[in-house]
Amino acid sequence: MQITLLGTGNPIPDPRRAGPSTLVRAGGSTVLIDCGRGVLMRMMGAGAMPGMISAVLVTHLHSDHLTDLNDVITMQWVMSPGPNLLRIFGPVGTKAFVDATLTGLAPDIGYRLDHHTDLTQGPWVEVTEVVPGDEFSIGSVSVTVGATDHRPVEPTVAFRLDDGTHSVVLGGDGIPCAALDALCQGADAYVQTVIREDLVKMIPSQRFQDILDYHSTVEQAAQTATRAGVSTLVLTHYVPGIAPGADDEWRALAAAHFTGNIVLGDDLTSVEL
Ligand SMILES: [Zn+2]
Ligand SMILES: [Zn+2]
Repeated sequence: MQITLLGTGNPIPDPRRAGPSTLVRAGGSTVLIDCGRGVLMRMMGAGAMPGMISAVLVTHLHSDHLTDLNDVITMQWVMSPGPNLLRIFGPVGTKAFVDATLTGLAPDIGYRLDHHTDLTQGPWVEVTEVVPGDEFSIGSVSVTVGATDHRPVEPTVAFRLDDGTHSVVLGGDGIPCAALDALCQGADAYVQTVIREDLVKMIPSQRFQDILDYHSTVEQAAQTATRAGVSTLVLTHYVPGIAPGADDEWRALAAAHFTGNIVLGDDLTSVEL
């Protein structure tokens, strides 16, 4: 199983970091979790073509996690040699978002169908809305859906992927909670979006202070990893973005609460389980 951080940024545009998105390759499947800004640029950087996506998993409907889903839908369609089903799984509301996206893309879809005679149908998209406790399969990878606490944002979910040999939890955004602990229990890896409370508190903006309510700090993510007994903690979605040369400072904050392997870094940082 290989986990690649495609985009490690946050909602604020960053010239060095794409928006939140992670790629998991396991059991012959290529699973894309969230579709932040620049996701396809980074996917190509990771050697994955849009047509290779086995499924898209959406943790929640915050725009930073979904802004480039329209690009994924369009390029998965146009760059596939023939009809290629794009499966999307996400919380309640995902279907309405995808339907609205397809409505917005209707002119483009029409142009391409008119122009390319070998294109005989528009994007082939199937949306499955999930709730905590659901289980489904992507090829040989089994997926379990768990609850997260990102209130007031609701609904939100996390996903646990298991290929029979290794398992990884994609925690999405949120603060620690019992349901996340349970989903992570005994997993090989746990990917969590994090903020630096100490740095965010120094930003003189109420709008920035508000994010402290509903994101795990680096320390909290490490504590969740310890409680759940995971081997590898993967940090992403850094708020603020990790300054050049500051990786070790962030790592030390996590290491104070977690003795396992800690992975963080630039876009396209990858870990093999
Ligand atoms: Zn986010
Ligand atoms: Zn969010």
